[in-house]
Amino acid sequence: MPHGQFPARLEPVGPGSYAYVVGIGSWHQSNSGLVTSNGASLVVDTLITPGMTRRMLAEMARAEAAAGHVDVLVNTHGDGDHFWGNQLLASSRIVATTRAARDMRGAATPPQIEALIAAEATDDGRGDFLRNFFAGLDFTDLVPTFPTETFDGSLTVTVGDKTVELIEVGPAHTQGDLMVFVPGDRVLFAGDILFSSGHPAVWSGPFQNWIDVCARITRMEVDAIVPGHGPVTTREKVAEFRSYLEDVREQSTVLHERGLGVDEAARVIDLTRYADWIDGERILINIDAVYRELDGRGDPDRLDIFHRLSAFVAEMRSRAS
Ligand SMILES: [Zn+2]
Repeated sequence: MPHGQFPARLEPVGPGSYAYVVGIGSWHQSNSGLVTSNGASLVVDTLITPGMTRRMLAEMARAEAAAGHVDVLVNTHGDGDHFWGNQLLASSRIVATTRAARDMRGAATPPQIEALIAAEATDDGRGDFLRNFFAGLDFTDLVPTFPTETFDGSLTVTVGDKTVELIEVGPAHTQGDLMVFVPGDRVLFAGDILFSSGHPAVWSGPFQNWIDVCARITRMEVDAIVPGHGPVTTREKVAEFRSYLEDVREQSTVLHERGLGVDEAARVIDLTRYADWIDGERILINIDAVYRELDGRGDPDRLDIFHRLSAFVAEMRSRAS
């Protein structure tokens, strides 16, 4: 199946509120959300391509007439899989944190990323993961479209009769993460603060901040939690996700003390507790994040990480076969 045609479903999570759950939550398969009330609507994140976003918005409008014209779009952070469909809602009020908006404006576009990949790709199979990274995704019509409004801390938005709270919680997954809380529906759209099917990617950290946000979620008055990737989840699962972050930090710290490099540490870290989690290669990103914290370095050059990830995936595959 081409990547651009991931199966997706619109799932009710409250009266007039929905999760749009894409694929199995792997790379590029990010979720969106819809909140409607009394003729008004708010969408949480667009998808990785305009085409996928167009299909999603049509399905939302079929479920709720109020989604035929979206009043507010909220981007949970600055990664492309959450905002490259924004142009479909260019006439809506588009809200993000100041830091997320900065990330979006600074981000390379897919053609730029593909050019960088092509320039450095090797033919020994180690670069296959990266070379095929965007395979099947159609970016031809993409016009990066940015927030019209930014905030720091928190912001309350009204959608019909509903109050929606935007809560800045980064830096964690990225510099500018926010969550969308709808108290009246007891629903939380967590963005990439939560991955419910597999390994997250810790691009920014610090780990402690992310761990604290997880603890905060488990205390919130919510019944449905919509993660950035993977199926709708519960507070119990969030506790499990939190202990993953604690475990990876603890094990990586020991490996760092023993003098192992990141790539070496990724081969020996014990992940048996997470054997059924997808996207296991991301452990490399996450160990690197612990090491960066310990060494006092900031956010990584993502392309450099992706090249190492590509070699790691090739190695994992040859070991598995
Ligand atoms: Zn994402």
